[in-house]
Amino acid sequence: MYAVKANPSADLLKVLWDSGITHYDVASIAEVRLVARTLPDAVLCFMHPVKAEEAIAEAYAVHAVRTFSLDSLEELEKICRATNDATDLTLCVRLRVSSDHSKLSLASKFGVEARDAAPLLLATRQVADALGICFHVGSQAMSPAAYIQAMGRVREAIVNAAVTVDVVDVGGGFPSTYPGMTPPPLGAYFDAIKQAFESLPISYSAELWCEPGRALCAEYASLLVRVEKRRGDELFINDGAYGALFDAAHVAWRFPTELVRDVTSNAKDVGFSFYGPTCDDMDHMVGPFMLPADTKAGDYIEIGMLGAYGCAMRTGFNGFTAGETVLATDEPMATVYVEEDDIMMPSNVVTL
Ligand SMILES: *Cc1c(COP(=O)(O)O)cnc(C)c1O
Repeated sequence: MYAVKANPSADLLKVLWDSGITHYDVASIAEVRLVARTLPDAVLCFMHPVKAEEAIAEAYAVHAVRTFSLDSLEELEKICRATNDATDLTLCVRLRVSSDHSKLSLASKFGVEARDAAPLLLATRQVADALGICFHVGSQAMSPAAYIQAMGRVREAIVNAAVTVDVVDVGGGFPSTYPGMTPPPLGAYFDAIKQAFESLPISYSAELWCEPGRALCAEYASLLVRVEKRRGDELFINDGAYGALFDAAHVAWRFPTELVRDVTSNAKDVGFSFYGPTCDDMDHMVGPFMLPADTKAGDYIEIGMLGAYGCAMRTGFNGFTAGETVLATDEPMATVYVEEDDIMMPSNVVTL
């Protein structure tokens, strides 16, 4: 599955579909409608563990959604009510797992503890046509150990409840590459997961699923910004914390940067911080972002690797809202798909 929240661009959805991604992880009725409209033959899985009841009803009755996640008996009852006690559901119980190996935690909000999961697994088994267990190790997991540990939780839950499990869904969290954040090759993650899956007490027909967001789309887009003012080593640019650079501001994430000029600068690269365009002090990105020392007002900068959680997070705060989207075909500024073949290499979108 592709986790649509990472980047819901219709163009990207079509690129992924054309590349063989047939299943989509959606979390709201708006995402359900978007994917149903854009890719009418896609299989939608509603993997948010806390859903609006009317969203479940519409997803089931109108958009043929049959897979839902849950982490409580209340949610199970809600799903049963909203689908009129449907007997064709795949229900995935979300386990709480550690986010220790990840750059962005998803450990506190959702999931039932493995040691407490037996009653929920048994109740879900009674109503589900297929029973799954899912988890999310947190976004940008920097080590395959994250999945090995989480699979240990899955084992504990299955053994405690003594239920038959049809699906194990290892969620998202697969990393991309950013300055100062180079993960092991993706193949190391897949090998670790496959090995852990094969040693679980499940039947041979059980399915292994995943729901990557970031890893599938981080390379898909760059942001092209203009420098409006320079103050020492601070650049005031026309996008920021309330635009496509939420992670640069709020979790001090670094992204690759490149000066875009007709004549290449010969100045050596130095570290800059950025201010975004709003009137808010929090609209600040500490970086450092490496750019030629003579970067000045009027210059354009390409900020790369913003396909995941970039455009998807922008707001209209202070009137600085989405610019222009341009389809480009150059290579991304970095990639984790060095050894894979060209199938995974989507076209590139530049946003101004
Ligand atoms: C956010 C999310 C994903 C995608 O996570 P990435 O870290 O972008 O891979 C997958 N599944 C669920 C349930 C999510 O909330």
